[in-house]
Amino acid sequence: MDEKRRFRNPDLARRIAEKISKLAPREKPVKICHVCGTHEWTITHFGIRNLLPQTVEVIAGPGCPVCIVPASEIDEAVKIAEKGITVTCFGDMLRVPGSTMSLLDAKANGADVRVVYSAGDAVKMAEKSPDREFVFFAIGFETTAPSTAVEILGNLPRNLSFLVSHRVIPPAMKLLAEMRDLNLNGFIAPGHVSTVIGLVPYEVFPQDYGLPTVVAGFEPLDVLFGVYAILKQIHEGRPRLENEYSRVVRREGNVKAQKLMKQVFSMADGKWRGLGTIASSKLALREEYAVYDAHTRHGVCIAEGVDSHSGCMCHLIIIGKSKPNECPLFLKACRPEKPVGACMVGIEGTCRIWAKTINRQSHVL
Ligand code: SF4
Repeated sequence: MDEKRRFRNPDLARRIAEKISKLAPREKPVKICHVCGTHEWTITHFGIRNLLPQTVEVIAGPGCPVCIVPASEIDEAVKIAEKGITVTCFGDMLRVPGSTMSLLDAKANGADVRVVYSAGDAVKMAEKSPDREFVFFAIGFETTAPSTAVEILGNLPRNLSFLVSHRVIPPAMKLLAEMRDLNLNGFIAPGHVSTVIGLVPYEVFPQDYGLPTVVAGFEPLDVLFGVYAILKQIHEGRPRLENEYSRVVRREGNVKAQKLMKQVFSMADGKWRGLGTIASSKLALREEYAVYDAHTRHGVCIAEGVDSHSGCMCHLIIIGKSKPNECPLFLKACRPEKPVGACMVGIEGTCRIWAKTINRQSHVL
């Protein structure tokens, strides 16, 4: 049996669900937060919430890399594009709303905005057109930041600069842990990010916040086992960090990728859509690479933007305080083909995932 099928085995899923039911509290509910769009996809697509007892809730935190980019940084990219500079970005970023328009709107108005699949594609584009200025809008968590760092350390063409909007996950988890009204009881830590950063950055959650934390993979059994492990820790009264995804995640993470990030970026305070400013959560270009900073090269710096538009509840969806179907615009004014808020745009956005799978939630397991 291949690995995918092994971790999607319905009989095993039901057996873990039974164990979860036995450990689930009878009265006081347990709230577990994951912070990864791929986890939300797995949970929604495979109908995992349907397998959980009523007293066990799994909520989606800020795990969508395009959803959390604040409007002010999209406004900066739009402004740069409006100056006649070619802005390159991942396809998911095109439709994410800024304060007044998205990059797709700017493109429709005549700006040169191009989709790339990697920072390396932006480098190649810039090399092919040395007479044009290019900017790569670098977004994403610790999973994509190393690839931006590699390009910056390489032989960059003089006509390319970077609008760096990378964020790191653990500070956002800390913020959620400290939100008293969120009442979290545990974290499912993101598998992809953990392959890069390893386990150590999560130790703070059981140690300082008493929150069981389990790094989990992306197959249904991974997620179910993550939930089971958290409930077991709660039951034993012994919060700790566990690695359910040991087939991929090592304690030390990807040391080479960490070194690359440290070489190119320093930590800065950063805004997150829906979360405000989080201390030391943004990667900023180090002094020695300031020449590649699109802000200074193109004289653009926008401090404030409009993150939520009328009626949109993205600021609550991103922190798991609301569910997509609680938004009055969900699947009415806001749909995948015509999104109003950021969470309906990216493939890892909670609203988009719910919208795409809502009629199929319980068919797989
Ligand atoms: S359904 Fe649309 S408008 Fe409502 S929270 Fe989600 S993205 Fe925002």
